[in-house]
Amino acid sequence: MRQINLWQKNSKENISFESLKDSVVSDLAIIGGGYTGCSAALTAAENGLSVTLIDKKIGFGGSGRNVGLVNSGLWLPPKKVEHILGKNAGIKLNKSLSSAPDLVFKLIDKYKIDCNANRSGTLHCAHSHKGLDDIQNRYQQLTERGAELELLDREEAEKRIGSSKFYGALLNKRAGTINPLSYCRGLAKAAQSKGANIFESSLAKKIDYKNKLWTIRTESGSIQSKMLLLATNAYQQTIKGVDSSKYTPVYYFQAATKPLSSHVLDGILPNNEGCWDTATVMSSFRLDSDNRFIIGGIGNLGSNISKIHSNWATRKAQTLFPSLNNISFDYFWGGQIAMTDDHIPKIYRIGHNAYSIFGYSGRGIGPGTYFGKSIVETFLNDNEDSLPIKPTSNNNERLGKLKGSLIEFGAKLNHLI
Ligand SMILES: Cc1cc2nc3c(=O)[nH]c(=O)nc-3n(C[C@H](O)[C@H](O)[C@H](O)COP(=O)(O)OP(=O)(O)OC[C@H]3O[C@@H](n4cnc5c(N)ncnc54)[C@H](O)[C@@H]3O)c2cc1C
Repeated sequence: MRQINLWQKNSKENISFESLKDSVVSDLAIIGGGYTGCSAALTAAENGLSVTLIDKKIGFGGSGRNVGLVNSGLWLPPKKVEHILGKNAGIKLNKSLSSAPDLVFKLIDKYKIDCNANRSGTLHCAHSHKGLDDIQNRYQQLTERGAELELLDREEAEKRIGSSKFYGALLNKRAGTINPLSYCRGLAKAAQSKGANIFESSLAKKIDYKNKLWTIRTESGSIQSKMLLLATNAYQQTIKGVDSSKYTPVYYFQAATKPLSSHVLDGILPNNEGCWDTATVMSSFRLDSDNRFIIGGIGNLGSNISKIHSNWATRKAQTLFPSLNNISFDYFWGGQIAMTDDHIPKIYRIGHNAYSIFGYSGRGIGPGTYFGKSIVETFLNDNEDSLPIKPTSNNNERLGKLKGSLIEFGAKLNHLI
C-alpha cells in the first residue's frame, strides 16, 4: 500500500514556486520551508529585510505531515523545563511558548490562511491511573504559572471524547487544530505577499562564508547573504560546509478514514478537540473538517506500509470508539520527528549571523512559528536576548540513529500486543 498524505489531498492553500536559477543577493537566506523557515521569512519581509528562502517543496518536512495540534508550551511539564535549563531560562522558554498558539491563530486571521483552523481546544487524555497522576501534576504546574486549563474527571472526559477508555483529561481551550500543510503554505504565501523570494525544487548543496558573506549554492543558482538560517529540523539533506543537526529521528504515522456519517460519529469528539494520550508509546486522534477520523502513533510505516502499525491503528480506533468497528483507512502517511535528548529545541550558532534551529521533539507548530519570528528579531536587534532559549556553539547529541531504532523497536512491540 502506498502512503497518501490526507493534508495534501484536502489542502485549500495551493501554491508553487519556481526553482532558483540565478545568483541572488539578500539580507537573509533561509534553508527550509517549514514553519520555522516560513515564519522567519514572513517576519523578515514584514520588517523590510530582503529574504530568500529555498526548499525542495514548501511543507515537505514535518510541517506538511503532522497531527495539526496547535499546543502551548513543550511536551515537557514546565517544572522539568525549569529544572533542565535553570529557573530563569526555563521560565523564559515556558512563557514564550505558552503564548505560541495566540501567535499561530493571529497569523491565520491576519493573512486569512485557509487551514480549517479550529480553536476548540486540545485534550491530553489519561490512559491509566499513572496517566491521571501525570495530567493532575501538569494541571497544578501549569495553572500555578497562569495557564487557564480545565481538569476533567472520568465522566466529563467520557462526554467530551466520546470514549469510556480514559481516566480523565486536561482541556486547554487556548489550543486547537489546523490542517498543518495548509498553514505552512499560507505562511509562505503571506511571506511572498510581503516581498520574500521563495524558490522550490532548490536544495542547498554547499555553504561557505567569506568576506562577511554567506554563499549558499544550489544545483542551478546561489544566494549571497549577510544572515543565514538553517531551518531543516528532521529533514536536512546533506549540505557541504555545515554540520548536520544531531538528534534522534523518531517516526510517527497517521491513518484517516472517509468522512464519517452522523450514525458512525455517534458522539465522537462532539466539540472537535484534538487529542493525544499519556502513554509512553503515545497516540493521537482527532477529526478533520469533513469528519474523517484520524489516528496516529509512533512508528515507521516504511515504503510498504508496516502491517504491525496499520493493524494497530484499526484495533486502537475500534477499542476507543466501538462505533468504528467496520471502518477502514483511506489514508496512511508518516513523518520524522527530531527528538533531542532533553526534549528541548536547540538553536545552534553556525557562525557569524548564522543559526540552525531544530529539535522540536514533536511539538513544532507553535514553537516553530515562534522561533522563526524571534530569530529574525535577533538579527534585526543584533541581540540574542530576543531568543526564547540561549544558542549553543556545540551540537553534540550522540547515537541518534541507534536511539531512534530502539524507539521504533519499542513501538513495534507495543503495537503487536
Ligand atoms: C508525524 C508528525 C506529527 C507531529 N505532530 C505535531 C503536532 O500535532 N503538533 C505540533 O506542534 N508539532 C507536531 N509535530 C512536529 C512538527 O511538525 C515539527 O516540529 C515542525 O514541522 C518543524 O518545522 P520546521 O520548519 O522546523 O521543519 P520542517 O517542517 O521539517 O521543514 C524542514 C524543511 O527543510 C527542507 N530542507 C532540508 N534540507 C534542505 C536543503 N538542503 N535545502 C533546502 N531545503 C532543505 C525540507 O525539505 C523541509 O521542508 C509532528 C511531527 C511529525 C513528523
